Amino acid sequence: MEGPGDNAAELGEIENVRVVVRVRPLNGKELDGHCKNITKVDSLNSEILVENPHAAPGEPPKLFSFDAVFDTDSSQVDIYNETARPIVDKVLQGYNGTILAYGQTGTGKTYTMSGAKTSPQLRGIIPNTFAHIFGHIAKADENQKFLVRATYLEIYNEEVRDLLGKDQNTRLEVKERPDIGVFVKDLSGYVVNNADDLDRIMTLGNKNRVVGATAMNVSSSRSHAIFTITVESSQLGDDGEQHVKMGKLHLVDLAGSERQSKTKATGVRLREATKINLSLSTLGNVISALVDGQSSHVPYRNSKLTRLLQDSLGGNSKTLMCANISPADMNYDETISTLRYANRAKNIKNRARINEDPKDALLRQFQVEIEELRKQLEENGTGVSESDPETEDSDDNFESKCDRKTRHRQSQILSMDQLEDGEVELREKMDKAERHDKSPDDKDVIELKRTQSEKEALREKMQNLQNKILVGGENLLEKAEAQEQLLAASAIELDQRKSREEQLKKAIEEKEAERIDIEEKYSSLQEEAAGKTKKLGRVYTMLMSAKAELSDLQQEHQREMEDLLEGVREIGRELQLHELVLNNYIPVQYQTMIERYVHWNEDIGEWQLKCVAYTGNNMRKAQATPSTGSNKDQPQPDLSNIYLSYNTGTESSLAQPKKLRGRSGVPRPTTAHRRPPR
Ligand code: ADP
Ligand code: MG
Repeated sequence: MEGPGDNAAELGEIENVRVVVRVRPLNGKELDGHCKNITKVDSLNSEILVENPHAAPGEPPKLFSFDAVFDTDSSQVDIYNETARPIVDKVLQGYNGTILAYGQTGTGKTYTMSGAKTSPQLRGIIPNTFAHIFGHIAKADENQKFLVRATYLEIYNEEVRDLLGKDQNTRLEVKERPDIGVFVKDLSGYVVNNADDLDRIMTLGNKNRVVGATAMNVSSSRSHAIFTITVESSQLGDDGEQHVKMGKLHLVDLAGSERQSKTKATGVRLREATKINLSLSTLGNVISALVDGQSSHVPYRNSKLTRLLQDSLGGNSKTLMCANISPADMNYDETISTLRYANRAKNIKNRARINEDPKDALLRQFQVEIEELRKQLEENGTGVSESDPETEDSDDNFESKCDRKTRHRQSQILSMDQLEDGEVELREKMDKAERHDKSPDDKDVIELKRTQSEKEALREKMQNLQNKILVGGENLLEKAEAQEQLLAASAIELDQRKSREEQLKKAIEEKEAERIDIEEKYSSLQEEAAGKTKKLGRVYTMLMSAKAELSDLQQEHQREMEDLLEGVREIGRELQLHELVLNNYIPVQYQTMIERYVHWNEDIGEWQLKCVAYTGNNMRKAQATPSTGSNKDQPQPDLSNIYLSYNTGTESSLAQPKKLRGRSGVPRPTTAHRRPPR
């Protein structure tokens, strides 16, 4: 499995995306409707045959081969061990990993990813991952330290929702920074100490997913859910330094892949339908661009999903796609479409490498903070920092200032027992001590008390941080222990079964080769004729299947083209609207000026203004500082969505916004959208 060469760590291991197929059993409705099973799985050769219920005479069943194919009787544990286990093992070594469930609604994506809670055997990939990770930590060397955290988000209609957030109505922004890449701003990240914690997080997120869908009166099958587990581990290197490795695992339950009928929707509904499908169709386009080998542009930026999963497809990740299908004849079209989609994904090449000492690792930062706190405590708790970086607002744009701040801008790190509660307490204690200080009598006693409470607070804070870091060898499995044993035992059994199968397969192949060899040596003309007839038969079958394939592909292209055309029309209309707004509200000479000073930053996917330091807002900020005028104590208005011009003749015009200026007006302080329309 290891890539060639020992310097794989730096160069990365090149490997194709692994693709497996899972067929779920016929469900009650399909059985009642006397649906036929049209699939035939050959798990030994990782192939699946699908029979067309409306096949033309002589049309053979369609054959697809994958990295593995699981039949209707496959167990959750087998799926885990054969698909997820190798990836999670890599994540524990510091690689990124992704597991995607793709397929029509009702084919078992959620069953495969989350599973059922009723018995350990029915649990899906996500909970089995928890048991696996904490089992690994329990067995690790005690010099190894770990930090595990999790986030859970949902993309619906191109909006990102934090499934673990306090306010489910908030929509989050996808951002990008050159040093750490794409991230979701303000996403809640929970530091977890055991598999049960992770389980609670998953349950909470799943509940929010369903509640959200119900509130919006839509089916959760239209949303994508991404559960992300980050495992950081640190170990003392040969150079005497602590080295941190960080593996990120995305577990993705994609929206149902079935084609949405857009024909009846119009206006807002149509635009919504287009948007709802945007992430999934962009995923398809990304896959096409990656495998076609000719396109120089991969449209990752076109949707939230593909932006967030950019590394997973064609990038730095070990990736597996599980294509879920139904065996029923009535789903033939969607089944074939899913298998084709999955078949293309097999050709994506990824280059995964170990993430060493990444910028957004928390483990080292926590360790440094603990060390600092320890020192402060030793120095009699006198050195309490005035501005606690943990809670300080970081609204400035100076990234170099402090790493601690930047990580707070990416995500809010919370621990299961609500880290913030601890910090609120700490702050209250410090405030109290401060207030005591005001009393003039008995200063020494108060000073002593203050020091004590500060010390207490520091100790508490240190404990809080220490609790988050897990030490190798600690058994944190609790109830999940049985789950981990179940997984491990069946992994061994699976290995044995695999090697037996391998032997059998080899034997069969040898026999087959022998047979063909014998057949090829014709001893008489008659035999030759018979042999050639047989061959002809085979070739004819091939011809028929090629013909069927051709017509399928043509149909699919036709549908795809119609979709694209519809997209083009939609974008065209939007463009017209933007132009109309622009031409009506911004005089031409200013449009030209803006165009001259703006450029597209491909790295972060935004239009940027050149010399932004000289814009009205920034100039004003710079000028406001020296003038420590009378209105110093007045609350400043929120200018985050307002552009200011240089014309600052009337300061008060801010508080009482003027009517919109005329078409040829000079730029006065006025409101405008923050970003120029694309
Ligand atoms: P999806 O998430 O793809 O829409 P679900 O995971 O919700 O589909 O599955 C639909 C139904 O089929 C559920 O009731 C689920 O329990 C059942 N199901 C799916 N896959 C299997 C399987 N392999 N074995 C047994 N039941 C399954
Ligand atoms: Mg589902």
